[in-house]
Amino acid sequence: MEPMTTLTLARGDITRQHVDAVVNAANSSLLGGGGVDGAIHRAGGPDILAACRALRASHYGKGLPTGHAVATPAGRLPARWVIHTVGPVWSATEDRSELLASCHRESLRVADELGARTVAFPAISTGIYGWPMDDAARIAVAAVRQAVTTVEEVRFVLFDERAYEAFAARVG
Ligand code: ADP
Repeated sequence: MEPMTTLTLARGDITRQHVDAVVNAANSSLLGGGGVDGAIHRAGGPDILAACRALRASHYGKGLPTGHAVATPAGRLPARWVIHTVGPVWSATEDRSELLASCHRESLRVADELGARTVAFPAISTGIYGWPMDDAARIAVAAVRQAVTTVEEVRFVLFDERAYEAFAARVG
């Protein structure tokens, strides 16, 4: 049988999701930031940051490149792992959509390696990184639909109504 991934949508806070893995819209330093990154570190506690520091020391001294993904334990979150990925900053002059698609593909590849069956994604790059919501939703949904993965449920967790509507229009 073909592997089947179900796309679902939820409104609210990604740190409250009971899933195997939560995707973090991290920055390349892996040392935390604002937005969803700050919320994940606050709710998950210091173990996540400690694991990020260890990854920096061992592999990512120059930072995690944009479009890549790497996992840590999830600390106190109701999840087993956090998958940190670095979205591209929106550019009006350069098409960076392949990098945004790569964040989703690479996060699912890491999820497969971990054996995660349920994965929650925020709307990567749509906050501080400035990506227009409708366009980000189009790219994210297409990337997940095209991915070859053993993940059974991909849940997009949208923080506000505008984000929810944009993703709902794509998931149908
Ligand atoms: P980026 O730097 O990739 O733009 P942000 O964290 O600034 O990342 O924003 C990404 C998206 O995550 C935005 O749409 C923002 O509203 C949303 N967001 C912020 N906090 C949370 C949260 N706790 N749960 C889910 N989504 C969140």
